[in-house]
Amino acid sequence: MTNKINITLSTTKKEKPASNQLEFGRVFTDHMFVMDYSSSKGWYDPRIVPYEPITLSPSSMVFHYGQTVFEGLKAYRTKDDKVLLFRPDKNFQRLNLSNDRLCIPQIDEEFLIDALKQLVSIDKDWIPTAEGTSLYIRPFIIPTEYYLGVAPSKFYRFMIILSPVGSYYKEGIHPVKIFVENQYIRAVEGGTGKAKTGGNYASSLKAQDEAEKRGYSQVLWLDGVEKKYIEEVGSMNIFFKINGEIVTPSLNGSILEGVTRNSILQILNHWGVPVSERRLSMEEVYQAYKDGLLEEAFGSGTAAVISPIGEFFYKEEKMLINNGETGELSKKLYDTLTGIQTGVYEDVFNWVV
Ligand code: PMP
Repeated sequence: MTNKINITLSTTKKEKPASNQLEFGRVFTDHMFVMDYSSSKGWYDPRIVPYEPITLSPSSMVFHYGQTVFEGLKAYRTKDDKVLLFRPDKNFQRLNLSNDRLCIPQIDEEFLIDALKQLVSIDKDWIPTAEGTSLYIRPFIIPTEYYLGVAPSKFYRFMIILSPVGSYYKEGIHPVKIFVENQYIRAVEGGTGKAKTGGNYASSLKAQDEAEKRGYSQVLWLDGVEKKYIEEVGSMNIFFKINGEIVTPSLNGSILEGVTRNSILQILNHWGVPVSERRLSMEEVYQAYKDGLLEEAFGSGTAAVISPIGEFFYKEEKMLINNGETGELSKKLYDTLTGIQTGVYEDVFNWVV
């Protein structure tokens, strides 16, 4: 593939939403990045073009068997008007992991980071500046062959679209209530849990919907075999502080390897805080709670960064964590990560680009 990206700028500019009216993923910028794949040409025709609808035949494979992958990361504007990306290399690495699992051809990670930089700089004015706001970046790949056979597509389209998003915590960081899911499962070892593929999210909707109806904002996913071991929370990784030690489930093949999770582990190591990645059962957490040793729990992911957990509903019982308030460690990690992402804190890890 030639590394030359063809650029066609939009002749009209859309109106930008006010920063206090931003929602998640509803408004898109003026441009997008696109490239195509065919088995004879490989990835070809990388281009930045005006954001617009695309046309596909109803027989296009994307509409049938879910052979799709995606990523999510953010760009932030600093006080001195620089644009920062947080660890984009990790997202493109993970995209290739997902590609491998879904039989989608590998992409050139370095080339795409460069393409992303060009796209973001063209739509730089779309990056909101108010505290907590950012530009959400969604790279994704769809199969485009017109064919109803169940087989890997011979043609694909890779795209990156951009969406200005508001602060996840409009009224300040606050804890959420979590339903420990004992009927539905998200993933099993050998399945696709480790990949960021559409089907994982489609199959999570039912549990999420039922939890919401009961007044919980997300579900805690247990392992798919014994329904005993903790995996993730909603679409976040999960951490506990038990008797001074931080514990997070080890990556077992069905858990998504979060970029935020990895960053938290590095920060905790840097601080000298004891942390262990291991198999952790809900029963162990419940016992720690009964013994008064469960100090904090929080989810981690690109959208919320840190999402403190104030309550679990488990075995018909409400487990209140830290009096339902944001724990000290959750807050400190939130401030540190967002500080590094927005260029306010020194980036000792060399994460921002
Ligand atoms: N688990 C799942 C299932 C997710 O969708 C996400 C969001 N990508 C995460 C964990 C957190 O990953 P990250 O920190 O890279 O956003």
